[in-house]
Amino acid sequence: MNLYDILNKATAKPHALSQEELMFLLEIRDEKEMQQLFHAAYGLKLRYTGKMVSIRGLIEMGNVCAKDCFYCGIRKSNPNVERFQLDREAVLRMSRWAWKHNFGSIVMQSGEMESEEHTAFVESLLRDITNMCNGELGITLSLGEQSEETLRRWKNAGAHRYLLRIESSSEEIYRAIHPQNHSFARRVECLKILRKLDYQVGSGVMIGLPGQSAAQLAGDIEFFRKMDLDMIGMGPFLPHHDTPMGKNVDFSENFKRQQLELGLKMISAVRLQLHNTNIASTTALEALRNDGRELGLLAGANVIMPNITDPEYRKNYKLYENKPAVNESSDDSIRELTRKVAAIGEEINWNKRGDSPHYFARH
Ligand code: SAH
Repeated sequence: MNLYDILNKATAKPHALSQEELMFLLEIRDEKEMQQLFHAAYGLKLRYTGKMVSIRGLIEMGNVCAKDCFYCGIRKSNPNVERFQLDREAVLRMSRWAWKHNFGSIVMQSGEMESEEHTAFVESLLRDITNMCNGELGITLSLGEQSEETLRRWKNAGAHRYLLRIESSSEEIYRAIHPQNHSFARRVECLKILRKLDYQVGSGVMIGLPGQSAAQLAGDIEFFRKMDLDMIGMGPFLPHHDTPMGKNVDFSENFKRQQLELGLKMISAVRLQLHNTNIASTTALEALRNDGRELGLLAGANVIMPNITDPEYRKNYKLYENKPAVNESSDDSIRELTRKVAAIGEEINWNKRGDSPHYFARH
C-alpha cells in the first residue's frame, strides 16, 4: 500500500477505498504525506463545489437537555450551567438578521427535548421564519432524537435538512460514552426516518475519542456510506471540565495538535471516499487552532456554520472548553469569517442554500 496509489484510486471514483486503505490515510504521521492527503481531498472539494463555501447561521436555541452524554458540557446532570431557552421573538430576530445579511441557510440547534409543547413551539417557529423570509432561508434542524410524527410536522412546517450525529458508529464506543438508557438503535432508526421523510440527512461522529482506533474511524466512514448520508458534520472530541470524560483530560498543546490533525485527516478521508456529500468544517476545529476551520476547508470540507446567536447566550451553550467567539457579536463573527475565507482564496456562497449535491444525485 502506498499513498500515491490510494489517492489516485480514491480521486478516480467514489467508494473506492477498502477499510485498510482508509486506515492507512488516518494513520499518516509524516507531515509531507499529510499535506498530500489534504491536497487531494481539497482537489475533490473543488471538483464538486468549486471555490465556494456554503454557510449556515447557527442559532443555539436552548441548552435544556434530557440527555446525559458523558462528554457534553450541557448534559442534564451538570449543575453548573445556567439553563436558557430562546423565545420566539429572539429566534425570529436572529433568523431575520441572517436573511438580511445574505445567509442562504440557518441551523436551529438545542439540547434534546421531546414534548408536545416543544414540538408545537418549533413547528410554529418554522412557519414564522418561512413567512418572514418568503421561504428564502434553508432551514436545518439539529434537535436530537424525535418521533416520526414530530419530524414529519417539522418537515411540513418548513425544515428540509436535519443533523443528527451518531457520535460513534461503533456500538462499543457508543455505550462507553453514554449512560445505559441512551439507545444507539434508536438514533440509527431516527436517521432512517429522516431519510424516509425526505429530509437532507446529516450525521457524523466525534473524532479522537478515548480508546477509539483508526479501524473504528474507518468503520464510521463505512457507516456514512451505508446510510447514504447527504451531509457530514464531525469534529474532534474536546474536553469539558464538568463532564465525566473531560475532567481528567490534559488539554495540552500536544493533545490539541493531535486532535486537530486527526480531525483534518478524517475530513479528507471522508471526502475521498464519499466525493459529493456536504462536509462541515466544524467549530471544534477552531477551538483547537485559530485557523482550524480554514484548515478544514483546505482538507476537503465545504460548509461552515458561523454562530449567529446573541453573545449573552453563547457562554451558556458550552459543549466543550475553548469554545471560540463566545464574546463576539454576530456582525464581528461574519466579518472575520468573510476575511478568513477570502484569505485562503475561497468565496462565500451568499444567498444560496448550498444544498448537498449528493441529495440531488440520489433523486
Ligand atoms: N441535541 C442535539 C445537538 C447536540 S450538540 C443532538 O442530540 O443531536 C451537537 C454536537 O456537539 C453533538 O452531536 C456532539 O457530537 C458535539 N459535542 C458535544 N460535546 C462535545 C465535546 N465534548 N467535544 C466535541 N464535540 C462535542
